Amino acid sequence: MTKQLMRVTTHDQLPSSTEVVVIGGGIIGVTAALTLAERNIPVVLIEKGSIGAEQSSRNLGWIRKTSRHAQDLPLAQAADELWQNMAKRVGLDVGYRQQGIMFLANTESLLAWHESWLNATATLAPGSRLLSNREIEERIPGGREKWAGALYTPSDGRAEPDIACSAISIAAMNKGATIIQQCAARTLSFSAGKISGVVTERGEIHCRQVLLAGGAWSRRFLGNTGVSLPTLPVICSVLRTTPMDGPTEIAVGAPDFSFRRHRDGGFIITQRGKVDAPITLDHLKIGWQHRQQFRTGRQYLNVRFGSHFFNDLRLARRWNSQQQTPFESVRTLNPEPNRQLNQDALNNLGRAWPIFSGACIAEDWAGVIDVTPDSLPVIDYVDSLPGLTIACGFSGHGFGTGPAAGQLAADLICQDTPIVDPAPYRFTRFH
Ligand SMILES: Cc1cc2nc3c(=O)[nH]c(=O)nc-3n(C[C@H](O)[C@H](O)[C@H](O)COP(=O)(O)OP(=O)(O)OC[C@H]3O[C@@H](n4cnc5c(N)ncnc54)[C@H](O)[C@@H]3O)c2cc1C
Repeated sequence: MTKQLMRVTTHDQLPSSTEVVVIGGGIIGVTAALTLAERNIPVVLIEKGSIGAEQSSRNLGWIRKTSRHAQDLPLAQAADELWQNMAKRVGLDVGYRQQGIMFLANTESLLAWHESWLNATATLAPGSRLLSNREIEERIPGGREKWAGALYTPSDGRAEPDIACSAISIAAMNKGATIIQQCAARTLSFSAGKISGVVTERGEIHCRQVLLAGGAWSRRFLGNTGVSLPTLPVICSVLRTTPMDGPTEIAVGAPDFSFRRHRDGGFIITQRGKVDAPITLDHLKIGWQHRQQFRTGRQYLNVRFGSHFFNDLRLARRWNSQQQTPFESVRTLNPEPNRQLNQDALNNLGRAWPIFSGACIAEDWAGVIDVTPDSLPVIDYVDSLPGLTIACGFSGHGFGTGPAAGQLAADLICQDTPIVDPAPYRFTRFH
């Protein structure tokens, strides 16, 4: 089954030229396209499947500063402001609610870890604070566990991934962007050493600049040009309950579950302590660049060798503009959810807050996340391919920062003052 999301009607005809082509209609691509269109820059966004159908509709919708890498906090703060104004900006609901995020600690050592984040980022995450078990109970009544404490940020929030991208893409079109779905970018074309167009499955579109915002596919697209983006896939499984009473509107993360209210009154739940890590050929090629992550995060990874390896192996890694590409064979990455992990999440949550014991599952799904070696994205020019900017590798937390990341990419393209210092996102850090 495919993840439910709001579908958008877009344009049919691929123009023959434009100023900027955006590849990928996830949160990054659509916010970049909106920003460019608002600046009166001619822009065409091409999406191989449907707008928002991959990670950007499958995520939990958390918009958080809590526990974020200090270097990523300015982008998260900028994104907060953009999310707050998004409904007004796009003229449609995106489900944004500023109702706080809380990370529960079941041990003193985990609480100390949260405290060290708080101390290191005090000025960057104003309002974040530690809570005692009693303060947790006051905010989330009906619990059975005794927590060591929690890290809480009232100014964090959430939006609804199943509507946000679609709403933003409609606004981008209203501002003048052209958006084409079911149209894969195959290759880039060059003239006099600079980008001169994108060859798509529907023909070539000439342009001066390209933004690659292809999520988990970006590594494969760039690989065909000889550039290595060191991202590896992990798969995160999620479930949504039918509408039900719940203990809080705060989004809550514990070591082995998380939950937050969905706009229809149900809850979106995941096993926060585990993701599936299917081995692919890329693990053999660039796994060494992720060795630090494997060492520190091993307990979170369900490492598996199986069908994913062979399915991935069957997809081409090199092609020319005349050949059908993997982007046409796989319109939407739609991995099977790990139902055991989802059930574990529901059981763990039901033990902590018994009100969830009677929850009914309305929908479950999974999404493939593109993880970089330091879990920060790359938002930068590709020096060896003049005219190409990339914004990818959001490592499981790019929905929250998405609007600011898309704007940063647009700033780089326009050579405008960047919304935040782009230094943490330089591509050269991996070379
Ligand atoms: C289960 C799950 C939970 C998550 N929870 C959160 C959370 O709570 N908060 C948070 O901040 N982040 C979360 N994330 C991460 C977040 O969803 C991503 O970081 C973010 O959506 C990335 O957006 P994107 O635009 O880079 O990628 P995507 O949304 O994956 O979009 C990329 C698009 O590019 C298209 N594309 C690729 N190649 C081509 C091509 N050659 N031609 C045309 N189109 C192409 C794809 O079809 C796709 O639609 C979660 C992710 C998952 C999977």
